[in-house]
Amino acid sequence: MACHETINCPRCNTAFECRVGSILRCQCQHVKLTEEERIFIAGTYAGCLCAGCLSDMKISYRQTQFKQRLLQLRILRLKDKNSKSTIWHTKNR
Ligand SMILES: [Zn+2]
Ligand SMILES: [Zn+2]
Repeated sequence: MACHETINCPRCNTAFECRVGSILRCQCQHVKLTEEERIFIAGTYAGCLCAGCLSDMKISYRQTQFKQRLLQLRILRLKDKNSKSTIWHTKNR
């Protein structure tokens, strides 16, 4: 069993050395990923990514999280507005 494997990055096609071939178990890159970030990347790409793409995916994961939070805030505000307007209408009647 080879402990180093040269694979092509599924994102940018750069050849790089990978120990496990799976992002969920890979320890070969110096990019530190949280469990959530690994799962996010594993759900997007089948294999392991090169160091450059790992940091790119880290950034895009954060942006996705940020956008989702903004969206949730907007939905909450919208619900709040709707409930207030219903109260306003019932009071006027
Ligand atoms: Zn890459
Ligand atoms: Zn790897």
